[in-house]
Amino acid sequence: MNSPWSSDILKVLSHFNVDPQLGLDLHKSELSLKNWGFNVLSKPKKKSRLGLFFKQLKNPVVYILVVSSIIAFVLSEKLDGWAILSIVILNSIIGYLHEAKAEASLEALSALTTPKTRVLRDGKSVLIESKLIVPGDILIFEAGDYVAADARVFSAHQLMADESILTGESTPVTKVISPLEETLALADRVNMVFASTVISGGSGRAVVTHTGEKTEIGKISEMMDSTEVSHTPLQKRLQSVSNKLILLGICVVVLVVIIEFLKGSQFIEIVMTALSLSIAAIPEGLPTVVTLALVMGIRRMSKKKALVRKLDSVETLGATDIICTDKTGTLTTGHMVVREFFTLDLESERLVHPILIMCNNASLEGGGNGDSTEVALLEFAAKKVSTQDLHKRFRRIYEWSFDSVRKRMSVAVQNGDSLSIFVKGAPESILSQCALTDENSKTIHEKIEVFSQQGMRVLALAFKHSEDMVFDQMSADKAESGLTFIGLVALADPPREESSLAIKRCLSAGVQIIMITGDHPQTAGAIARELGIINQTRSIIMTGAQMDLLSDEQLKETSDKIAVFARVSPAHKLRLVHSLKDQGHIVAMTGDGVNDAPALKAASVGIAMGKEGTEVARQAASIILTDDNFSTIVDALEEGRSVNGNIKRSLQYLLSTNFAELLFILGASAIGWPVPFLPINILWVNLVTDGLPALALATEKTPKDFLSQSREPSAKSFFDKAFYLEMALVGLVITVMSLVIYHYSFTHYDQLTARSIAFSFLVYVILFRSLASRSDTLCFFELDFNVSHLMSVLIPLVFQLGMQQSEFFLSVFKIKSLSLQQNAVLIVLSIIPLILLELKKLLKRSSIA
Ligand code: ATP
Repeated sequence: MNSPWSSDILKVLSHFNVDPQLGLDLHKSELSLKNWGFNVLSKPKKKSRLGLFFKQLKNPVVYILVVSSIIAFVLSEKLDGWAILSIVILNSIIGYLHEAKAEASLEALSALTTPKTRVLRDGKSVLIESKLIVPGDILIFEAGDYVAADARVFSAHQLMADESILTGESTPVTKVISPLEETLALADRVNMVFASTVISGGSGRAVVTHTGEKTEIGKISEMMDSTEVSHTPLQKRLQSVSNKLILLGICVVVLVVIIEFLKGSQFIEIVMTALSLSIAAIPEGLPTVVTLALVMGIRRMSKKKALVRKLDSVETLGATDIICTDKTGTLTTGHMVVREFFTLDLESERLVHPILIMCNNASLEGGGNGDSTEVALLEFAAKKVSTQDLHKRFRRIYEWSFDSVRKRMSVAVQNGDSLSIFVKGAPESILSQCALTDENSKTIHEKIEVFSQQGMRVLALAFKHSEDMVFDQMSADKAESGLTFIGLVALADPPREESSLAIKRCLSAGVQIIMITGDHPQTAGAIARELGIINQTRSIIMTGAQMDLLSDEQLKETSDKIAVFARVSPAHKLRLVHSLKDQGHIVAMTGDGVNDAPALKAASVGIAMGKEGTEVARQAASIILTDDNFSTIVDALEEGRSVNGNIKRSLQYLLSTNFAELLFILGASAIGWPVPFLPINILWVNLVTDGLPALALATEKTPKDFLSQSREPSAKSFFDKAFYLEMALVGLVITVMSLVIYHYSFTHYDQLTARSIAFSFLVYVILFRSLASRSDTLCFFELDFNVSHLMSVLIPLVFQLGMQQSEFFLSVFKIKSLSLQQNAVLIVLSIIPLILLELKKLLKRSSIA
């Protein structure tokens, strides 16, 4: 339909053949979906399986190996050529299988976080995936919703949309329902809502006119077409470490080639040595290890009810040192019950129930639907009066919706000929609008204090008569001024049982907690004290108003003493995030409201609520909690730390073994000994070590109670001094042992035996050493059984022993069979680095204890 904003709404509705009270039926919506297709901006590009396999071949190691095999074929070493090619293919298959597994997991998880939209279908209000929206659908909006398609508005209560993504104008646009001139520019078509914009206030309904690429945003869709997955900070840092290692490798290759040349070695030997070194230098397992560890972390987090939307959040969450969390529904159960109410006189008492029922958007259907505060108020009132009778007596005409800045909500109601405005909200925001005697004011404030100190949420109720009928042109401020105080209600919202333990776990792991709440400081303080958030380190309760009086510098100075920020608005949250981040903290921040999106985006990790939160908050966050529970954040943080640990230990393992291989070959050549390995030997060592144990290490499960054992937040940089030091030390121990064993072998036996001994020793030592990489603090025998790691050690070990019995493999690897005794001695020797590493852990533990 062209220019729907200029047509009468009845024409628009009849064009789409839809009843605004019923919405589309199943048949019509299915038909439309067939005609119009999915409501998506660009068709997701599906990576082909074959493409994924060939991606594995686009890698410098593969290029080197292919060149090596060509050289082998040219030199008529056919067996060598085939062996190298087989290993290339085997390596690519392992890479492909892991990457395909990672992608499938990510796809399944991203389906869980796709945006949803509320529509009217078959007369019922239902939440459906936004991609299923079709022209003619009736959209139902409230603050915090994303608009899923372009639509013509036909019902609006203070409906406002933030259209800055389309128009660049950040002031919200108030929507109207009357037809407009056809020639108007996009920004002035105020009876339309547009896909990808946000409902920033009010409520309303609209009929969809365009979907997918036909929408205004679809027309400029190249700006939205950035489906390319960006690399996480760690992956980028890793790339630079890999590049450095490759550069180092090239230097070593050049050095060795010069040495060998000066020694007068044969050309073919020089080429083979250079190839072996190149293979040893390139840590081809690195990227797969990191991706797999992150994806496995995401999978484990999703099982614990934390859905991760961005890969790098796993890593950042692991390094988080401050959690700023909401109170209501996150630390507390969110199942509120009215415990107390208070009025000044009997006359006021008569209005308590009408206000609670009429100034309320919740319903009691299915055990309670809507905002938890409002459900509780409705439950309380419904016990005393019949809600149906009340709805017959009063007719609701208009609503000024609740928002977290005004902290109140009002409705205009008609009772016969009389018009009134009913208001409920945070006591201070209501009392400031009521005329009260000093005595009454004192009594009310005393009551508020008593209720709040018991951790209860207090709401004040008020009303006024109104002469004015034109409510839709009346601002909330005007409607909510000159009020008469009616009473107070106090609601209990007890802390979740698991919150207190989760907080203890955080504190013991060096993670600090700040409670951020819209609630009263005393209510918040009582809960924070009960949960241990107010403690010796953090004890201050600060309100949003007090925060406004502080300069940025003063806020920074006090912020490490503050346990609770109360009566805050979303703008305060944003300021706090910036202040904490400026101090070098890694901040996780929760949010659920429409205005929380900037703070969620600014936080190092934005966490949204999946049950109570708005769609805008969910889309701005990097993690969504499906149970809105604080302890889920702590579980996810524990997983994040464990993933970071897994990545760090696998990298440590991979790099130290590559380093040892490189140094061994360089050392032997520099001393003037014969070159220990052929490319095929080094290739095999890399395949069994990089391909199997490193990947098993990357997916190591999180040990029980891991958070309490990891005393400090993970290092911000993986590649710190300690990392390189440990890598160099382990690498040196293995190198020195290899050199000694190799020297002994070629002075006591022939060169072929010496190579066979060095080859088997290197495989054994690297496999055993991986056992120490399963944990930073616990020895391998103290840890739970890890079948995949055990297999990744045992299978290559058995194969290494078995291949010595097969003529075929002996000729492929150019080695000879060692005796049982020789193998036994090598195995015993190869356990030494493992013992040293485990001893180091025990020593470190005893020095901390
Ligand atoms: P938290 O930030 O801890 O999750 P919250 O999100 O419930 O708490 P807000 O929603 O900003 O905080 O509420 C702030 C205050 O506004 C409440 O303490 C209460 O006094 C008042 N309030 C909350 N809900 C309503 C409502 N539906 N109608 C009127 N007033 C409300």
